[in-house]
Amino acid sequence: MVPSQPSFLRRIGPRGGLRDNAQVGSVENIVIAKRTGVCYGVREAIDKAKIASASGKDTHTLGHVVHNEGLIADLRARGIKNVDHLDEVASGTAVVIRAHGVTPEVLGRAAERGLEVIDGTCTWVTQEHRELARLVEEGYDIVLLGTPNHPEVVGLLGFAPNAILVDEEEDWAFIPRRKRMALITQSTQPPWKFERLAAFLVSRCHELKVINTVCPVTIRRQEDTIAVAREVQLMIVVGGTRSANTKELTRLCEIGGTHAVQIESAQGLTDPDLFANIHTVGITGGTSTPIEDLERVALRIAELGGTDHVRTNAASIARAALEAAATPQYRTTSITNNTPA
Ligand code: SF4
Repeated sequence: MVPSQPSFLRRIGPRGGLRDNAQVGSVENIVIAKRTGVCYGVREAIDKAKIASASGKDTHTLGHVVHNEGLIADLRARGIKNVDHLDEVASGTAVVIRAHGVTPEVLGRAAERGLEVIDGTCTWVTQEHRELARLVEEGYDIVLLGTPNHPEVVGLLGFAPNAILVDEEEDWAFIPRRKRMALITQSTQPPWKFERLAAFLVSRCHELKVINTVCPVTIRRQEDTIAVAREVQLMIVVGGTRSANTKELTRLCEIGGTHAVQIESAQGLTDPDLFANIHTVGITGGTSTPIEDLERVALRIAELGGTDHVRTNAASIARAALEAAATPQYRTTSITNNTPA
Protein backbone atom coordinates (compact mmCIF):
# COMPACT_ATOMS: atom_id res chain seq x y z
CA MET A 1 0.00 0.00 0.00
CA VAL A 2 1.32 3.43 -0.88
CA PRO A 3 1.21 5.64 2.17
CA SER A 4 -0.49 8.97 1.73
CA GLN A 5 1.85 11.93 1.76
CA PRO A 6 2.14 13.99 4.89
CA SER A 7 0.29 17.26 4.56
CA PHE A 8 3.47 19.38 4.84
CA LEU A 9 4.60 17.92 1.47
CA ARG A 10 1.47 19.05 -0.27
CA ARG A 11 1.30 22.39 -2.02
CA ILE A 12 -1.30 24.66 -3.47
CA GLY A 13 -1.09 24.33 -7.24
CA PRO A 14 -2.43 26.52 -10.03
CA ARG A 15 -6.08 27.41 -9.81
CA GLY A 16 -6.01 26.52 -6.13
CA GLY A 17 -5.68 22.78 -6.81
CA LEU A 18 -3.43 20.65 -4.66
CA ARG A 19 -0.09 19.53 -6.07
CA ASP A 20 1.85 16.79 -4.41
CA ASN A 21 5.54 16.90 -3.71
CA ALA A 22 6.35 14.77 -6.78
CA GLN A 23 5.27 17.78 -8.84
CA VAL A 24 7.48 20.32 -7.14
CA GLY A 25 8.98 22.24 -10.00
CA SER A 26 12.38 21.71 -11.51
CA VAL A 27 12.81 24.93 -13.54
CA GLU A 28 15.95 26.73 -12.39
CA ASN A 29 16.67 29.06 -15.27
CA ILE A 30 14.42 31.17 -17.52
CA VAL A 31 15.84 33.04 -20.51
CA ILE A 32 14.09 35.58 -22.73
CA ALA A 33 15.45 35.90 -26.27
CA LYS A 34 17.11 39.22 -27.07
CA ARG A 35 15.67 41.58 -29.66
CA THR A 36 12.06 40.59 -28.98
CA GLY A 37 9.10 42.85 -28.28
CA VAL A 38 6.87 44.66 -30.74
CA CYS A 39 8.74 45.47 -33.99
CA TYR A 40 9.27 49.09 -35.01
CA GLY A 41 6.68 48.91 -37.81
CA VAL A 42 3.86 47.77 -35.55
CA ARG A 43 4.98 50.16 -32.80
CA GLU A 44 4.81 53.15 -35.14
CA ALA A 45 1.29 52.25 -36.28
CA ILE A 46 0.17 51.91 -32.65
CA ASP A 47 1.74 55.25 -31.77
CA LYS A 48 0.15 57.01 -34.73
CA ALA A 49 -3.29 55.79 -33.68
CA LYS A 50 -2.71 56.94 -30.10
CA ILE A 51 -1.45 60.36 -31.15
CA ALA A 52 -4.45 60.89 -33.46
CA SER A 53 -6.90 59.91 -30.76
CA ALA A 54 -5.14 61.99 -28.08
CA SER A 55 -5.38 65.04 -30.32
CA GLY A 56 -9.15 64.71 -30.32
CA LYS A 57 -9.67 63.01 -33.69
CA ASP A 58 -12.37 60.40 -34.06
CA THR A 59 -9.88 57.62 -34.81
CA HIS A 60 -10.35 54.22 -36.42
CA THR A 61 -7.94 51.50 -37.44
CA LEU A 62 -8.56 49.63 -40.67
CA GLY A 63 -8.10 46.13 -39.27
CA HIS A 64 -6.31 45.56 -35.97
CA VAL A 65 -2.94 47.29 -35.92
CA VAL A 66 -1.52 44.54 -33.73
CA HIS A 67 -2.28 40.86 -33.03
CA ASN A 68 -2.32 41.16 -29.27
CA GLU A 69 -5.42 41.22 -27.09
CA GLY A 70 -3.87 43.42 -24.38
CA LEU A 71 -2.75 46.10 -26.82
CA ILE A 72 -6.06 45.95 -28.70
CA ALA A 73 -7.92 46.47 -25.42
CA ASP A 74 -5.65 49.44 -24.61
CA LEU A 75 -6.46 51.08 -27.95
CA ARG A 76 -10.15 50.45 -27.41
CA ALA A 77 -9.94 52.05 -23.95
CA ARG A 78 -8.49 55.15 -25.61
CA GLY A 79 -11.58 55.38 -27.81
CA ILE A 80 -9.87 54.05 -30.95
CA LYS A 81 -12.31 51.93 -32.93
CA ASN A 82 -11.42 49.07 -35.22
CA VAL A 83 -13.26 48.62 -38.54
CA ASP A 84 -12.88 45.99 -41.25
CA HIS A 85 -14.17 48.17 -44.11
CA LEU A 86 -13.94 51.84 -44.97
CA ASP A 87 -17.73 51.90 -45.42
CA GLU A 88 -18.06 51.62 -41.64
CA VAL A 89 -16.32 54.97 -41.13
CA ALA A 90 -18.11 58.31 -41.29
CA SER A 91 -16.75 60.90 -43.70
CA GLY A 92 -14.22 63.31 -42.20
CA THR A 93 -12.93 60.93 -39.52
CA ALA A 94 -9.40 59.57 -39.21
CA VAL A 95 -8.40 56.10 -40.39
CA VAL A 96 -5.07 54.55 -39.47
CA ILE A 97 -3.57 52.17 -42.01
CA ARG A 98 -1.75 49.38 -40.18
CA ALA A 99 1.87 48.33 -40.71
CA HIS A 100 0.86 45.66 -43.27
CA GLY A 101 -0.18 48.41 -45.71
CA VAL A 102 -3.08 48.38 -48.17
CA THR A 103 -3.66 48.44 -51.93
CA PRO A 104 -3.64 51.74 -53.85
CA GLU A 105 -7.38 51.16 -54.44
CA VAL A 106 -8.08 51.30 -50.71
CA LEU A 107 -6.19 54.59 -50.39
CA GLY A 108 -8.15 55.94 -53.37
CA ARG A 109 -11.47 54.91 -51.80
CA ALA A 110 -10.49 56.57 -48.52
CA ALA A 111 -9.75 59.82 -50.39
CA GLU A 112 -13.09 59.62 -52.24
CA ARG A 113 -14.88 59.19 -48.91
CA GLY A 114 -13.16 62.29 -47.51
CA LEU A 115 -11.41 60.37 -44.73
CA GLU A 116 -8.23 61.54 -43.10
CA VAL A 117 -5.74 58.77 -43.82
CA ILE A 118 -3.01 58.30 -41.22
CA ASP A 119 -0.56 56.01 -42.92
CA GLY A 120 0.96 53.53 -40.47
CA THR A 121 2.36 51.35 -43.25
CA CYS A 122 5.77 50.12 -42.10
CA THR A 123 8.59 51.80 -43.99
CA TRP A 124 9.90 48.36 -44.94
CA VAL A 125 6.54 47.44 -46.48
CA THR A 126 6.38 50.81 -48.27
CA GLN A 127 9.75 49.91 -49.79
CA GLU A 128 8.25 46.60 -51.00
CA HIS A 129 5.42 48.54 -52.66
CA ARG A 130 7.95 50.73 -54.49
CA GLU A 131 10.01 47.75 -55.60
CA LEU A 132 6.91 46.00 -56.94
CA ALA A 133 5.75 49.05 -58.86
CA ARG A 134 9.23 49.33 -60.42
CA LEU A 135 9.32 45.64 -61.41
CA VAL A 136 5.91 46.00 -63.07
CA GLU A 137 7.14 49.04 -64.95
CA GLU A 138 10.25 47.17 -66.08
CA GLY A 139 8.09 44.37 -67.47
CA TYR A 140 9.22 41.47 -65.30
CA ASP A 141 7.07 38.44 -64.62
CA ILE A 142 6.92 38.66 -60.85
CA VAL A 143 6.90 35.77 -58.40
CA LEU A 144 5.76 36.79 -54.93
CA LEU A 145 6.55 34.51 -52.00
CA GLY A 146 3.81 35.04 -49.43
CA THR A 147 0.91 33.62 -47.49
CA PRO A 148 -2.36 33.88 -49.46
CA ASN A 149 -4.87 36.31 -47.95
CA HIS A 150 -2.37 37.69 -45.44
CA PRO A 151 -3.11 41.46 -45.26
CA GLU A 152 0.43 42.41 -46.28
CA VAL A 153 0.21 40.10 -49.30
CA VAL A 154 -3.20 41.48 -50.27
CA GLY A 155 -1.64 44.96 -50.19
CA LEU A 156 1.40 43.87 -52.22
CA LEU A 157 -0.78 42.31 -54.92
CA GLY A 158 -2.47 45.67 -55.28
CA PHE A 159 0.83 46.96 -56.70
CA ALA A 160 1.39 43.93 -58.96
CA PRO A 161 -1.98 42.30 -59.70
CA ASN A 162 -0.46 39.83 -62.18
CA ALA A 163 2.22 38.55 -59.83
CA ILE A 164 2.36 34.79 -59.34
CA LEU A 165 1.78 34.17 -55.63
CA VAL A 166 3.42 31.06 -54.19
CA ASP A 167 3.80 29.83 -50.65
CA GLU A 168 4.78 26.24 -49.83
CA GLU A 169 7.29 24.29 -51.89
CA GLU A 170 4.64 22.09 -53.49
CA ASP A 171 3.27 25.23 -55.25
CA TRP A 172 6.55 25.97 -56.97
CA ALA A 173 6.30 23.31 -59.68
CA PHE A 174 3.35 25.26 -61.13
CA ILE A 175 5.42 28.38 -61.76
CA PRO A 176 5.57 28.79 -65.56
CA ARG A 177 8.82 29.30 -67.46
CA ARG A 178 9.37 32.90 -68.51
CA LYS A 179 12.19 34.90 -70.08
CA ARG A 180 12.57 37.66 -67.47
CA MET A 181 11.43 36.93 -63.95
CA ALA A 182 11.71 38.78 -60.66
CA LEU A 183 11.36 37.34 -57.17
CA ILE A 184 10.20 39.34 -54.17
CA THR A 185 8.77 38.30 -50.82
CA GLN A 186 6.37 39.18 -48.03
CA SER A 187 8.51 40.65 -45.22
CA THR A 188 8.01 37.90 -42.65
CA GLN A 189 8.74 34.87 -44.83
CA PRO A 190 11.63 32.71 -43.57
CA PRO A 191 14.94 33.59 -45.25
CA TRP A 192 15.76 29.94 -46.01
CA LYS A 193 12.53 29.57 -48.00
CA PHE A 194 13.24 32.71 -49.97
CA GLU A 195 16.75 31.49 -50.80
CA ARG A 196 15.48 28.08 -51.88
CA LEU A 197 12.85 29.62 -54.13
CA ALA A 198 15.48 31.91 -55.68
CA ALA A 199 17.64 28.86 -56.45
CA PHE A 200 14.63 27.04 -57.89
CA LEU A 201 13.71 29.96 -60.15
CA VAL A 202 17.12 29.96 -61.79
CA SER A 203 15.92 26.94 -63.77
CA ARG A 204 12.66 28.66 -64.69
CA CYS A 205 13.91 31.68 -66.64
CA HIS A 206 16.68 33.29 -68.65
CA GLU A 207 17.01 36.39 -66.47
CA LEU A 208 16.19 36.45 -62.77
CA LYS A 209 16.07 39.56 -60.62
CA VAL A 210 15.97 38.87 -56.88
CA ILE A 211 14.74 41.55 -54.50
CA ASN A 212 15.32 40.43 -50.95
CA THR A 213 12.57 42.01 -48.85
CA VAL A 214 12.73 39.64 -45.89
CA CYS A 215 12.51 42.03 -42.94
CA PRO A 216 15.75 42.28 -40.93
CA VAL A 217 13.74 42.43 -37.70
CA THR A 218 12.33 38.99 -38.51
CA ILE A 219 15.78 37.61 -39.30
CA ARG A 220 17.33 38.92 -36.07
CA ARG A 221 14.43 37.57 -34.04
CA GLN A 222 14.82 34.14 -35.61
CA GLU A 223 18.58 34.17 -34.94
CA ASP A 224 18.11 35.11 -31.28
CA THR A 225 15.34 32.55 -30.85
CA ILE A 226 17.51 29.78 -32.27
CA ALA A 227 20.39 30.87 -30.02
CA VAL A 228 18.21 30.56 -26.91
CA ALA A 229 16.58 27.32 -28.09
CA ARG A 230 20.04 25.73 -28.30
CA GLU A 231 20.63 26.48 -24.62
CA VAL A 232 17.35 25.30 -23.10
CA GLN A 233 15.19 22.19 -22.83
CA LEU A 234 11.85 23.83 -23.64
CA MET A 235 10.83 26.95 -25.57
CA ILE A 236 7.67 28.97 -24.98
CA VAL A 237 6.75 31.02 -28.04
CA VAL A 238 4.33 33.90 -27.40
CA GLY A 239 2.18 35.35 -30.16
CA GLY A 240 -1.18 35.31 -31.92
CA THR A 241 -2.35 32.02 -33.36
CA ARG A 242 -2.71 33.73 -36.75
CA SER A 243 0.71 35.34 -36.65
CA ALA A 244 2.89 33.85 -39.40
CA ASN A 245 6.17 35.04 -37.89
CA THR A 246 5.24 33.51 -34.51
CA LYS A 247 4.47 30.14 -36.10
CA GLU A 248 7.81 30.28 -37.86
CA LEU A 249 9.63 30.81 -34.55
CA THR A 250 7.90 27.73 -33.14
CA ARG A 251 8.84 25.72 -36.19
CA LEU A 252 12.48 26.80 -36.07
CA CYS A 253 12.79 25.72 -32.43
CA GLU A 254 11.38 22.30 -33.28
CA ILE A 255 13.66 21.94 -36.32
CA GLY A 256 16.59 22.66 -34.00
CA GLY A 257 15.45 19.84 -31.73
CA THR A 258 13.98 21.89 -28.85
CA HIS A 259 10.34 21.27 -28.08
CA ALA A 260 8.36 24.52 -28.42
CA VAL A 261 4.91 25.39 -27.14
CA GLN A 262 3.09 28.35 -28.69
CA ILE A 263 0.76 30.42 -26.52
CA GLU A 264 -1.00 33.78 -26.92
CA SER A 265 -0.31 35.06 -23.43
CA ALA A 266 0.70 33.95 -19.93
CA GLN A 267 -2.87 32.71 -19.38
CA GLY A 268 -2.11 30.00 -21.94
CA LEU A 269 0.19 28.28 -19.45
CA THR A 270 -1.89 26.22 -17.07
CA ASP A 271 -0.31 22.78 -16.91
CA PRO A 272 2.61 22.40 -14.49
CA ASP A 273 3.37 19.00 -16.05
CA LEU A 274 4.67 20.85 -19.09
CA PHE A 275 7.73 21.66 -16.98
CA ALA A 276 8.22 18.23 -15.42
CA ASN A 277 11.95 17.49 -15.29
CA ILE A 278 12.71 20.69 -17.22
CA HIS A 279 15.49 22.81 -15.77
CA THR A 280 15.91 25.52 -18.39
CA VAL A 281 13.14 27.29 -20.32
CA GLY A 282 13.50 29.85 -23.11
CA ILE A 283 10.91 32.45 -24.13
CA THR A 284 10.52 34.30 -27.39
CA GLY A 285 7.73 36.30 -29.01
CA GLY A 286 6.37 37.36 -32.39
CA THR A 287 6.56 40.88 -33.77
CA SER A 288 3.17 41.82 -32.26
CA THR A 289 4.04 40.58 -28.78
CA PRO A 290 5.01 43.28 -26.27
CA ILE A 291 8.16 42.50 -24.33
CA GLU A 292 6.16 43.07 -21.14
CA ASP A 293 4.10 39.98 -22.05
CA LEU A 294 7.30 37.93 -22.10
CA GLU A 295 8.04 39.00 -18.53
CA ARG A 296 4.53 37.87 -17.52
CA VAL A 297 5.18 34.51 -19.18
CA ALA A 298 8.50 34.21 -17.31
CA LEU A 299 6.64 34.90 -14.06
CA ARG A 300 4.04 32.26 -14.90
CA ILE A 301 6.71 29.67 -15.71
CA ALA A 302 8.47 30.41 -12.42
CA GLU A 303 5.21 30.03 -10.48
CA LEU A 304 4.06 26.90 -12.28
CA GLY A 305 7.25 24.97 -12.79
CA GLY A 306 9.99 26.58 -10.71
CA THR A 307 12.03 25.05 -7.93
CA ASP A 308 11.24 26.27 -4.44
CA HIS A 309 13.82 29.03 -4.80
CA VAL A 310 12.48 30.12 -8.21
CA ARG A 311 8.87 30.15 -7.04
CA THR A 312 9.69 32.15 -3.96
CA ASN A 313 11.56 34.72 -6.04
CA ALA A 314 9.37 34.47 -9.16
CA ALA A 315 8.85 38.22 -9.67
CA SER A 316 12.51 39.17 -9.39
CA ILE A 317 13.59 36.23 -11.55
CA ALA A 318 11.11 37.22 -14.27
CA ARG A 319 12.31 40.83 -14.13
CA ALA A 320 15.95 39.73 -14.31
CA ALA A 321 15.15 37.61 -17.40
CA LEU A 322 13.56 40.64 -19.05
CA GLU A 323 16.42 42.95 -18.18
CA ALA A 324 18.96 40.47 -19.49
CA ALA A 325 17.08 40.41 -22.80
CA ALA A 326 16.64 44.12 -23.40
CA THR A 327 15.99 47.44 -21.86
CA PRO A 328 12.24 47.27 -21.38
CA GLN A 329 11.43 50.96 -21.71
CA TYR A 330 9.53 52.03 -24.78
CA ARG A 331 9.77 48.74 -26.59
CA THR A 332 6.03 48.56 -27.14
CA THR A 333 5.01 52.15 -27.41
CA SER A 334 6.55 55.52 -26.76
CA ILE A 335 3.16 56.94 -25.87
CA THR A 336 2.40 56.55 -22.19
CA ASN A 337 -0.99 57.25 -20.65
CA ASN A 338 0.18 60.67 -19.53
CA THR A 339 2.06 61.76 -22.60
CA PRO A 340 0.33 64.66 -24.35
CA ALA A 341 0.13 64.34 -28.12
S1 SF4 B 1 8.00 42.68 -39.22
FE1 SF4 B 1 9.36 44.10 -40.27
S2 SF4 B 1 8.22 44.66 -42.12
FE2 SF4 B 1 6.74 43.77 -40.74
S3 SF4 B 1 5.90 45.52 -39.63
FE3 SF4 B 1 7.59 44.72 -38.39
S4 SF4 B 1 9.37 45.95 -38.99
FE4 SF4 B 1 7.82 46.21 -40.58
